[in-house]
Amino acid sequence: MNTQEIKALNGEHILNTYGERRLALVRGEGARVWDAEGREYLDFFAGIAVCNLGHCHPKVTEAICAQARKLVHVSNLYYIEPQVKLAQLLSKHCFADKWFFCNGGAEANEAAIKLARRYWTRTGTPKPEIIVAKQSFHGRTLGALTATGQPKYHEGFNPLLPGFHYVPYDNLEALEAAITPEVGLVMLEPIQGEGGVRLPSRGYLPAVRQLCTEKNILLSFDEVQTGLGRTGTLFAYEDENVIPDMITLAKGLGNGVPIGALGCTDAIADGFAPGAHACTFGGNPLSAAAALATMEALTEPGLIEKGAEMGAYFTRSLLDLAQERPCILEVRGRGLMIGVEFDREVAPLVGAMHDAGILCGPAGPRVLRFLPPLIIDTTAVDCVVATLEASLEALQW
Ligand SMILES: *Cc1c(COP(=O)(O)O)cnc(C)c1O
Repeated sequence: MNTQEIKALNGEHILNTYGERRLALVRGEGARVWDAEGREYLDFFAGIAVCNLGHCHPKVTEAICAQARKLVHVSNLYYIEPQVKLAQLLSKHCFADKWFFCNGGAEANEAAIKLARRYWTRTGTPKPEIIVAKQSFHGRTLGALTATGQPKYHEGFNPLLPGFHYVPYDNLEALEAAITPEVGLVMLEPIQGEGGVRLPSRGYLPAVRQLCTEKNILLSFDEVQTGLGRTGTLFAYEDENVIPDMITLAKGLGNGVPIGALGCTDAIADGFAPGAHACTFGGNPLSAAAALATMEALTEPGLIEKGAEMGAYFTRSLLDLAQERPCILEVRGRGLMIGVEFDREVAPLVGAMHDAGILCGPAGPRVLRFLPPLIIDTTAVDCVVATLEASLEALQW
């Protein structure tokens, strides 16, 4: 099918939640993808921070194929070897001792909310309330949507879940003021992604950790976007070495195969007893094998460090461009999670970049976001920065 045919059929049969798009992509390899007409693009969005190893990474593809020939699904009524190996490898590289697997980011955050509530209930002191940040993004299911501190996503879906408090991000006083004896969980992104690639000030996350410990409140980091090497370390919490009680993962975990995870410390793990929570597909042989191969490849020496170097190189080039372009207000990010804030809406620029063969996306109305695979090289970065400059010129920005 060509793009027009795919688009027409989409219009007839797919619910219109995503609006109109320019491209239909049919093939990928490394940092490159091809559309239905065979045109090549440099992918600097990686399926929204998902294909961190690049498209169709040989080891992940091999693991998927081998597992698909062996066993795809059995449910968690049975033990699953790739799932326990995945959990073991995650724990080797992460503070979390125990894992629950599901299908994506929203589900992982639902699991975190449920574990926190049930943990406190089982201690005999229920503390069901939850503090989250404004501008946050935690997913679209009703619990995760309620945790998402952006009114535009809530529109038309009331009533949402009770018990949530919204505080400004990167503001310790506001967080402290929101604490009541009913609050049992603080849920934060270590860097806000969808909210505009917003980094907290240094010291904020450690201070939140300390406050939560003092007030006996659980802390969960939503690393669905920041995790799996995206920000220059395997997990973003490593940057200031702030250890939360829970972590949620998804996007990059299976390098494109749907899988999500909640990790927690042994100290709170018995909040969930048999029957308390479940997921039919969670950590099934196929997705777990893909995630295991992804984790093995991501933790090979040098890969994440190289991504971090490319991130620094890319950011420097963007800062140089910003010097010449007053329409660029700020370049910010860490590793290969980079936002470029403009003095106007970026939608036309995203379109121009697509037309010029570069995939990138927005993060809110005025921030252009880059989330390339970690395997990019300086040639690819130079090409993207040159294309950005040419697009700004063409748009007369
Ligand atoms: C994408 C995202 C989610 C939601 O993940 P889904 O797999 O789409 O449910 C949650 N939290 C963060 C930080 C995200 O970036």
